[in-house]
Amino acid sequence: MENAVDMKKVASLCKRRGIIFQSSEIYGGVGSIWDYGPIGVELKNNVKAAWWRSYVYNRNDIEGLDASILMHPKTWEASGHVTSFADLLVDCKECKKRFREDQLKKKVCPECGGGLTQSRRFNLMFKTSIGSVEGESTDIYLRPETAQGIFVNFVNILNSSRKKLPFGIAQIGKSFRNEITAGNLTFRSREFEQMEIEYFVTPEEDKRWYDFWVKERLDWYINLGIRRENLRLREHEKDELAHYAKSCHDIEYNFPFGWSELEGIANRTDFDLRQHARISGTELVYFDDATNKNITPYVIEPSGGVDRATLAFLVDSYNEEKVKNEKRVVLKLHKELAPVKVAVFPLLKNRPEIVEMAKRVAKDLSGKYKVVYDDTASIGRLYRRQDEIGTLYCVTVDVQSLDDKKVTVRDRDTMAQDRISADLLKSEINKRLEE
Ligand code: ATP
Repeated sequence: MENAVDMKKVASLCKRRGIIFQSSEIYGGVGSIWDYGPIGVELKNNVKAAWWRSYVYNRNDIEGLDASILMHPKTWEASGHVTSFADLLVDCKECKKRFREDQLKKKVCPECGGGLTQSRRFNLMFKTSIGSVEGESTDIYLRPETAQGIFVNFVNILNSSRKKLPFGIAQIGKSFRNEITAGNLTFRSREFEQMEIEYFVTPEEDKRWYDFWVKERLDWYINLGIRRENLRLREHEKDELAHYAKSCHDIEYNFPFGWSELEGIANRTDFDLRQHARISGTELVYFDDATNKNITPYVIEPSGGVDRATLAFLVDSYNEEKVKNEKRVVLKLHKELAPVKVAVFPLLKNRPEIVEMAKRVAKDLSGKYKVVYDDTASIGRLYRRQDEIGTLYCVTVDVQSLDDKKVTVRDRDTMAQDRISADLLKSEINKRLEE
């Protein structure tokens, strides 16, 4: 079934509420490059933190890494990106638009019906140069995936952490691809973030761990609130597999623009470690105590996009409801992901005692997560604003609060309101957030 959420409405909400903006908008923008606004950065950080917690903190067999974007150019020769990381592109002879050949249904221009040129290979890596003296610089690439930073550090991490197989290395960071097809907000960006684990195993155990990670990654999205029916697994056909992969499953999300890849889980075998060992001349092996032999581990790679996950969480949580004959737009984001946990309002902003108490309540709650104080509109509008960004609790200070020292707490999903003593508010909200 199609996802009924309207992408135009999600895009307009993103702009209106400070979630996602077009990069350099005042100059007309740059294609497929995006900025995250005050609410978007919270959401994206929460997605990354949830992933990091699930794997680096909750498991004892995974270590973290933050490798550089710029790497030795030989890295990309070894990985195969210099020769293979390319799209076949065709140009329309009439309107001059450019397309990816594999995305065309017919051999004519989808925009104007004109004839197309022969296809040409176009490498997706961005090139820049390193060196301070002009003319003496060397070409260097912006990484198109974070994975290679993990492979080249394999021995460093093995020696410093003393891990035994199976173990993993996790990394979140920016990647860059000079993508041709655009559209659908951040789904396909030229600058984006990946969250990747390279999980090293003995060659005999690859199937078992591959199956484990496919299920684990699917469950991760479901546990953070994505509806099961909007997710599916798709196994790659043999002729579709990347040059390094023995098998690959995509986790796809039912976006309003069609089922599309959120994440790939691949069995990369020992391809990368062997390639880097060969080209660098450094041994990249693991000493197996049981057999007294050096082995080159296989690697299972769950590789997800932070921006695509964030977009899927946004779309899946987008709800329009009718409340008292009025439309309510609400992002029903999982509590771990909600950008703002609590918003505090004074019911009457012309009563200094109420304003002062509300500001005190907001300050008291601050520190661990994003708390907002707002008095710039009527209470109804303030609620609507917060619903639209998925704020979990709205706290109101009213005239009665001055007497009984209690505040009204409204729950985003049920809209139920209860009165809680201002002194107990922080512990009560923290309890609800941790439940
Ligand atoms: P696609 O087929 O959509 O181009 P891919 O198969 O090339 O994606 P991978 O190389 O497997 O993607 O990258 C792993 C993950 O990184 C993807 O599942 C996706 O979530 C994310 N990703 C890749 N390219 C982009 C991009 N241009 N913009 C946003 N996220 C991306």
